[in-house]
Amino acid sequence: MGKGLAFLLVLLVVLLAALIVKVTSREAPTIQLQGQIKGLGQSTPIQFEVRDPQHSVRSVQLEVRQGKRVFAVPVVAGTTEVRTSWWRFWRKRPESRASIQTRVGRKEIPDLQEGRATLRIVATNDSWGRFFRGGRSELSMDLPVRLTPPQVQVLSFPHYVNQGGSELIVFKVSAGTMESGVKVGDYFFPSWPVRDSMPETRLCLFAYPYNVDPATPASLVARDDAGNETVSNFTYRVFPKKFHTDTIDLKDDFMTRVVPSIMSQTPELQDQGSLLKNFLLVNGQLRQANARELVAISQKTADHFLWTAPFIRLPAKTEASFADYRTYLYNGAVVDHQTHLGFDLAGVEQMPVRAANDGVVAFAGFLGIFGNAVVIDHGCGLESLYGHMSSIAVKAGDPVKRDQEIGRSGQTGLAGGDHIHFTMLLDGIPVNPVEWWDPHWIHDRIEAKLAPYK
Ligand SMILES: [Zn+2]
Repeated sequence: MGKGLAFLLVLLVVLLAALIVKVTSREAPTIQLQGQIKGLGQSTPIQFEVRDPQHSVRSVQLEVRQGKRVFAVPVVAGTTEVRTSWWRFWRKRPESRASIQTRVGRKEIPDLQEGRATLRIVATNDSWGRFFRGGRSELSMDLPVRLTPPQVQVLSFPHYVNQGGSELIVFKVSAGTMESGVKVGDYFFPSWPVRDSMPETRLCLFAYPYNVDPATPASLVARDDAGNETVSNFTYRVFPKKFHTDTIDLKDDFMTRVVPSIMSQTPELQDQGSLLKNFLLVNGQLRQANARELVAISQKTADHFLWTAPFIRLPAKTEASFADYRTYLYNGAVVDHQTHLGFDLAGVEQMPVRAANDGVVAFAGFLGIFGNAVVIDHGCGLESLYGHMSSIAVKAGDPVKRDQEIGRSGQTGLAGGDHIHFTMLLDGIPVNPVEWWDPHWIHDRIEAKLAPYK
C-alpha cells in the first residue's frame, strides 16, 4: 500500500468522523421569553427571542394544544444575522437571532375554550445535526385560558376629588386579576389589597394632578394574568381649584449663592456660559429630572399603610403654597414660569424637621433643586417630601415614627432662605398636603371608607 493511499484513507476516516460528529450533534437554538406569560386570553401578547450562536435559525413554530386539538399560530420571525459561506465552517458565525412578537388568544384561535391549554414553541436551526434535520429546541407551558375580562365592583362612596388633591376608592376585583387601579388622563394609580387576607378587595389612592384638566375622565382599570382588560366607570366629582400666582424677582446674589452649588453636585448639567442661563437650566431641566426621580423613588412603596393618625404640619409660617404659578423676572423681563409643588414652611433657622407620619425613609440625600432632602414612604404609594435641609438625621431604610426629628431646616438646593419645602406625593406625583393635614378630611375620605375592612 502506497503512502499516498494510506494518507487518503486516514483523511477519509477523519472526514467521516467529523461528519458523524456533525450529523449527530444536538446543538440547538435557545428560546428566551420576554416577560412572563401567565395565561391566555382574548389576545394575549407573546414576545420571545430565538438565538443560535453557531447556526442560522431555520424555523420557529408556535402552537396551542387544548385536549386533542392543536392550533398552529403563524409567526413572522424577523431574523437578523450575517451569513458566511458554508465551507468556512471553522469561522465562528455571527449569532443568528429571531425576535417574535405575536398575539395568542380567542381572536387568533376562535375555537379556543376557557380552561387550560399548552403553549408550545419549537425552533430549529440549519445545522446538519440530528441527521440533517437541524438542531431543535422546544419550550412548553401549561397555562390557564381566561376569556371573560376581570370584573370590578365599586364598594366605596362618594368620591370627591379636588384638583391637585387625592381621593380613595375601594373596589373588588375577580380572581385572576393581576393589576388594577385608577387611570386619570395619562396617570395610572395602582391599587393595593385592603388586607393581606383579602387580596381581591383593593384600595386605591388616586389624584387629579394640579395640571390635569378637571374634565379629564377617571376610570377603573383591571387586567388579568391573560392580558384581558376591563375599563369601567365609577361615580366621582372633581372640584376645580384656583391656584395662587407669584412673581420672583431674580437677583444675581441669590443665583450666585444657589446655582454653582447645585451644578457642582449635579455633574450631568452642562455649563451654559452665564449665571442666568445656568439658573434657567436648574429651574427647568433639573426640576423635571428631579420630578422623574421622585416617581422612581415611589416604586419601593410598602403594600399597606404604615400610618394611623393624621399627618403633622410643621409649626412654621407658610411662605409659598401648593401649585403657586411662579413668574420669574430678571431685570424686569420675564425669563421663566414654573409651578411650585409644595408648601414652603419657615420658622427659626435650623428648626427641627419632624416626620409627618409613621413610615420608612425611602430616600435621604441630595436631590437637585430640593437640596438635601428626605422622602418618607407611608405605604400604598403615599409619601412625604422634605427639602432644603441643612442636616439629615436619618438614612434610607430607617423606620420613622410620627413627630420624630429627621433633620434640620436649611437653604440647600433652590432656596432663598432657611425653610422646609414640604409636600405629599402619590406615586411620586406631588399632591396638595393640606388635605393630609386635615383630620376631618382623613376621617371622611380615607378612614371611613376603610373601616369595614379593619
Ligand atoms: Zn418650595
